[in-house]
Amino acid sequence: MTYNEKYIELKASGSLPSPKGTAMKLIELCQQSNVALPEIIHAMQADPGLVGRVLKMANSPVYGRLRPVVSLSPDVLMTIGIQSLRQVVLAFSLVSAHRSGQAQGFDYQGFWSRSIAIGVASELLGAEVRVAPPIEMFTCGLLSQIGKLALAAIHREEYGKVLAEAGGDPDRVLTLEEERFGLNHAEISAAMMADWGIPKFFNEAVLYQELPGMAGFSDTSRRVRLIWCFHLAWRLADLCFAGDKDRSAVMDKLFPIARKLDLDAEMLISLVNQMIIEWKEWSALLEIQVPDVAAFPDAQQDAQFRSDMDNMVVTSEFKVNLESEAHAPMDILIVDNDPVAVELLKTILVTAGHQVHTASGGRDALRMVLEHQPQIMITDWMMPGFDGLQLVRTLRETEIGRYLYIMVLTALSDKEKMVEALNAGADDYLVKPIDRAELLAHLKAGMRIVSVQREVIKECDLLRRNALQLTIANQRAEEAALTDALTGLYNRRYAMDRLAREWVASERNRRPLSILLVDIDHFKRVNDNYGHNIGDIALKRLAEMLSEHSRRPDIACRIGGEEFIILVPETALPGAIRQAERLREAFEGKPINVEGIDLPLTVSVGVAQKCAGMASPEELLKIADEALYQAKREGRNRVIAAPAQ
Ligand code: GH3
Ligand code: MG
Ligand code: MG
Repeated sequence: MTYNEKYIELKASGSLPSPKGTAMKLIELCQQSNVALPEIIHAMQADPGLVGRVLKMANSPVYGRLRPVVSLSPDVLMTIGIQSLRQVVLAFSLVSAHRSGQAQGFDYQGFWSRSIAIGVASELLGAEVRVAPPIEMFTCGLLSQIGKLALAAIHREEYGKVLAEAGGDPDRVLTLEEERFGLNHAEISAAMMADWGIPKFFNEAVLYQELPGMAGFSDTSRRVRLIWCFHLAWRLADLCFAGDKDRSAVMDKLFPIARKLDLDAEMLISLVNQMIIEWKEWSALLEIQVPDVAAFPDAQQDAQFRSDMDNMVVTSEFKVNLESEAHAPMDILIVDNDPVAVELLKTILVTAGHQVHTASGGRDALRMVLEHQPQIMITDWMMPGFDGLQLVRTLRETEIGRYLYIMVLTALSDKEKMVEALNAGADDYLVKPIDRAELLAHLKAGMRIVSVQREVIKECDLLRRNALQLTIANQRAEEAALTDALTGLYNRRYAMDRLAREWVASERNRRPLSILLVDIDHFKRVNDNYGHNIGDIALKRLAEMLSEHSRRPDIACRIGGEEFIILVPETALPGAIRQAERLREAFEGKPINVEGIDLPLTVSVGVAQKCAGMASPEELLKIADEALYQAKREGRNRVIAAPAQ
């Protein structure tokens, strides 16, 4: 069986990790070509955790916002870019859905805390080396080891043993995986990422992340630097787990790799410290436990590292001589419908040492830009269908296209036309027929700009990092304002706001909406008999039970002392009554145990469905409340539904 067939077989088993629920919906939405941004925002709001994480992403230093964003808006989504958003949502949903699992001997929290470290390190390297947009570096780094999670999901009993047998030796892990399962985790990671629509450029780098030498590329193109970035990120993650004594040994091995990416000791050390800070922040946000690690070196060690690094002899394995940025080979995309012109340009550029991709028209070019993320694009103007100027305008509206250096080729020597090209967003133009020396001279100017841009973005990063701290604090405050401190459920304010939104959604989609008002019976007696503390703990347990017995789209909130509301979207009265009945039975059948005391608590529930004649959410609340009151009157521990209005 070939590698591909094996992967297809794995996929067919249905056990590969995949996004679910809100995330799946969002990923699908982001794939539609004409999706309205408010629709995406609405879908995201079903998951406040996700909103918080996306906001942190939006406040990432790379976007150069001077003021932090504290709530979602179409503008925020525009900055992130829909494709990046898709990846971010995908990555986060995988973390949330696989925090724990069934595989024996597989450390799920450990897996994710390492993956988060790799993601953060990749992002920071992305910003430093400017090899790809840092957000995409983050998500691809975070997912770069996902093949391991897949193997754990498929070979629940055996995979833990393989890891134990390998004893922490990464090469041995790969070999054993191939022997036992016919595929290694790097191959699976790359294939899964390709399946999720992540560009080939990244998947290839993930494939060679652990063994970059195996890629067989000896040049210093972006493609190779990306592989080294992911490799370095993977190794940097070790620092988060190394004991105090081992750290400097781990670090020593990283300096030569950093040099391949033109990073000196000072940069690497500050990157490591930043990595540790962000690793902790992201882990807290994604609810993954991490060991306590201090910032890396103190000032004295710092000096020591720097001198170590300066004295270090670069081993032959790492003898790639990176030239300064302005002379480094560039990834260039040529777009022209005339194959002769393409060949001519390609020959000149390849001879000058650049990596070249070609496209035969505007639409083809858009696909290539997404897939290969070139740094420079040289496009013809006059092409049938989607012409060069349309291409430039379209690209300038996208996140990736904004950073692309674009040169427009034209046979027209008319000045006005040149102005038109520049106005459309081109950086430079060249008049056909192409002269080799002229092309290379213009290209040199472009390369300089690509590298200057890199410096400018670096400076913005600094400003932004300070702003970021503030945003996280704001976000936490905002979350706190929407949740109830005792139970962690949403509070009354959120409940009312959310009900209003669900109301509007149900009107628009013509879908049913029901609510359950839940009140605990004789709760006062618990306080009277056992004291307020026991009462509080009982309330927490009750809240947990409510959450456990709610389905995914339902929203459970605490709206009063021992009163709760459950919003049940997409459900008509009979379904809501069944759900309320299940909930009532769950309480009736199982006393709540608080510190050894069994409390046989029951609940009364008022159920109501939004009906055509109702003017507002208040009316719905009112009839549900009346039903609840009736349940109390009729003896408690029962469900009463409000009659349809
Ligand atoms: P029923 O609803 O069945 O009529 O009886 P009840 O005893 O639950 O009645 P009521 O709704 O009048 O009283 C609610 C009681 O819940 C009052 C208060 O003692 C208790 N309570 C409300 N909030 C809290 C809280 O945060 N902690 C604790 N421990 N008790 C609370
Ligand atoms: Mg009560
Ligand atoms: Mg009450």
